[in-house]
Parts: sequence; C-alpha cells; structure tokens
Amino acid sequence: MKWEFETQRLILRHTFTIARGSSDFRETIRLAFTHEGITGWGEAAPNPRHKESPASVQTELAKLTAAKISGDPLAYRSFLNNLLPTLNHSYAARAAVDMAVHDWCGKALQLPLHRALGIDPEEMPPISKTIGIDSPDQMSQRAIESSDFKVLKIKLGTAHDRDLIESIRSVTSQPLRVDANEGWTDPEMALKEIEWLSTQNVELVEQPLSAERHDDLIWLKSRSPLPLIADEAVAHPEDIFNLASGYHGINIKLAKCGGIAAAQDLISTARAAGLKVMLGCMIESSCGIASAAQIAPLVDYADLDANLLLDNDPFDGHPVVDGVIRLSQLPGLGVSLRK
Ligand code: MG
Repeated sequence: MKWEFETQRLILRHTFTIARGSSDFRETIRLAFTHEGITGWGEAAPNPRHKESPASVQTELAKLTAAKISGDPLAYRSFLNNLLPTLNHSYAARAAVDMAVHDWCGKALQLPLHRALGIDPEEMPPISKTIGIDSPDQMSQRAIESSDFKVLKIKLGTAHDRDLIESIRSVTSQPLRVDANEGWTDPEMALKEIEWLSTQNVELVEQPLSAERHDDLIWLKSRSPLPLIADEAVAHPEDIFNLASGYHGINIKLAKCGGIAAAQDLISTARAAGLKVMLGCMIESSCGIASAAQIAPLVDYADLDANLLLDNDPFDGHPVVDGVIRLSQLPGLGVSLRK
C-alpha cells in the first residue's frame, strides 16, 4: 500500500470574502492511495478555525507511510477504523484518507461510489452558488453571472447587509440562502435581520451568531421565521444532541467530520434528532466536491460549488447542469487528475 501526497494551491477566480476574512487562494493537500495497481484520490482542506494548516495535515499524512498498514480496503469501515486513529485529530487529513479509500473501493468494484452505497442520483438536490461579501454592485454582478443556478448562497455579516441583499434583489428573484458565518453579534438585531430576510425570498440562515452563544441561539430559534442551520457549531455526531435546541438543521462538511463514512453517520444522527441536513464544502477542488456529491442525494440542501469558484481546478469531476450536479457513471469518485 502506497500513500503519496502534495500540497496544491487553488487560485480563486474572485477574491473570496466572508465575515471572518478574505482569500485569493487556498491550499489543499492531494492524496493518492495505491494498492494492487489501483489508485484512489482524496483531498484535505485544512481549516484554520480548527487549527489545521497544510503543514499540519502533511505531518499527519506522513504517519501513514511510516505505519505498517494492512487489511482489506474493501471492508472500508473496519479498514478506516484501524487507520484513522493514526491521524490524531486532523479531520481534514482523515477526510482525505476516507475519500481515497472510497475512491479505491469504487474502482476495485468498477462501480460509481453512489451505486456501491445504494444511493439514487435522481434524488440529487440543486446546489447553491455562493456569492462572497463584496460591494453591492459586485455582488449583483455575481448574481447575474449565476442565473443558471436554482438558488444562491449569500455571505453576510457586515454593517450593511440589507444594501447587499437589496442590490441582489434588484437583479434576480432567485431564492437565496444566507450565511452570516457568526458575523452578527446581537440576538435582537439578528432576529430583526432574519425577520426582514424572510420577506426577501430567503430560505434559511446559516450560523447567525457565534457557535459559542448557544443560549442566544435557543432564544433565536424559538422566534425565527426562517430555519437556522448550524455550521461552525457542528462537526461530529456527539455535537448533535446539544445543537437541536438552537438550530433547525446542520451543515455537514467532509473536512470537518472526517470523510464520507463519518458524514453518513452524521446524517443518520441528525435525522434521528429531527434536523434538516445541508452538505457543504470548504474551498476545495473537484476531488473533494465529487466526494460529497456522491452522498448528496441523502440530504436536503447541497452547497457544493467550491470547484466552480476556482481558476485552476486540478481535477475533472462531474458536470453541473441547470444548477444540479449530474453524477457520471465513472467508477469511484468519478474524478481524474488533469494533465
Ligand atoms: Mg457556512
């Protein structure tokens, strides 16, 4: 068994701004798992909020080559359970390993991963196209460029959020989803914003307040006319039990929870708690996006567009047709590294 990895710099088409800061590029780590002549691909998107960096992920992945790993990758649940503790608490690194093993399995079985997992691609929800914080004119321009999508995800959390929404509303009537990325600080003000947003064809609001302010979120949930979705507040199944009182749903990301198997566990736990489920992404290439897309038919909302924000996607993945990812019949994740 061979594990090879390297850092790849993903250049963003437009400077990407959220309530916490701006980026022109992000670095992810591409992982190749080769065994019996088959190579599976994975991608780690390190999250600074969880104290991960490209260097820390590389340190964790280097342990794979040192560890004497054996076992049957096709029995992927037990294979991963044996392997993942090697990687400590780097969930981005775990996600890359989980993706590469799933890709390997699909290729070994000669089945697209969603087929191997019994998932119906016809149940794929539309993806939202993300528009980062910018000037009102730039954001409405992005909305015009995104007319092919069935729903837009708007980053907010500024002192002039209503101007941004009004500018977008002047050019489109598409449904919107709003992500404040913990950018609102006062619960009463957040409620006023959400009440106003509910008159603007907004479907839901993601992480309106800091994840730490759970009591305020309980207060807000009981009054909010729109569903509240936890993102920064949720990573693992054990988080769910406390969260249900403050949110109507959760945003799962493979890089936060540790991969496809962990995401499926989270989906089941969220369903048991009566929560809606969104499947989201970090800034990552078509490799990470394809991994989430393979299980996206299991969720209510898909926010899987990061590859579309890139200028130099290293992978070919699945096409988006009329705002919906159409999973190909290629085996595994269905991605290939561009030459
Ligand atoms: Mg979010």
